[in-house]
Amino acid sequence: MPAPSREPYLIDSHCHLHDPEFFTPEQQLDFLEDARQQNVRQIICIGTSPADSLRARAFAESHENVFWSYGIHPEEAVKKEDFKSLFEVLKSSSLVAIGEIGLDYHYPSFDKQSQWRLLEQMLSLAIDLSLPCSFHVRDALPDFFAIVHNFPSLKPSVLHSFTDSKTNLNRALDQGFYLGLNGIATFANLDCYRTLTPELLDRLVLETDAPFLTPAPKRGKINKPGNIAHIASWLSEKLGVSVSQVAEKTSNNVRKVFNLPNPEAISCPGSS
Ligand SMILES: [Zn+2]
Repeated sequence: MPAPSREPYLIDSHCHLHDPEFFTPEQQLDFLEDARQQNVRQIICIGTSPADSLRARAFAESHENVFWSYGIHPEEAVKKEDFKSLFEVLKSSSLVAIGEIGLDYHYPSFDKQSQWRLLEQMLSLAIDLSLPCSFHVRDALPDFFAIVHNFPSLKPSVLHSFTDSKTNLNRALDQGFYLGLNGIATFANLDCYRTLTPELLDRLVLETDAPFLTPAPKRGKINKPGNIAHIASWLSEKLGVSVSQVAEKTSNNVRKVFNLPNPEAISCPGSS
């Protein structure tokens, strides 16, 4: 058996590859293989509703190196689904986070009260289960920071798809959050990522949010976890550091936040 490689690898910390609304079963397998070829060793499938989270769980449990999160997206808040038999559902060794949860005031039909209540319930759940969160927050960071402030025992968590102002970026860092960087950074000239210093690598995780937000130069095609490689190379150019350094730092961050096992240990179960 060849010795496990020590070269840095990539992790997709946020995607929806489990979702049959966007991916055929053939695409799912192709994209897992593509990810392997791009040296993406671990993938987190993010749930957006109770039913979708169960699909993420089934997908994670049937594919090596895939993990899942239990989440109810803020846009689902008005549906007021209950958490029926939740604790049965959440007994899973590949469950690594609660999310995506958060606040989204982007579309005019949002209901603040329902979103606040749902977020508070999900934060309590994360604390009960001692899990970090993957947060989706759009046009709502001040309210979000105020609510999360009431949950001081929350584990260090990720603000997924961070695109807000530089001021809010600094505030998020001050409050201990990690930031999820995805394809948007590669094609939109975002203020918050205009000037970056290598120190920020300590608090970044990479994500595709596949099937959405395909990075340059793959715009126009469906997004897939293997495209993490394009986000890593954009970031390495931006920071003037090697892709290996980007991969090593960001993957360490993902493994630390989501408490993922060592992928080398997984791929060599027979070795001691
Ligand atoms: Zn997402």
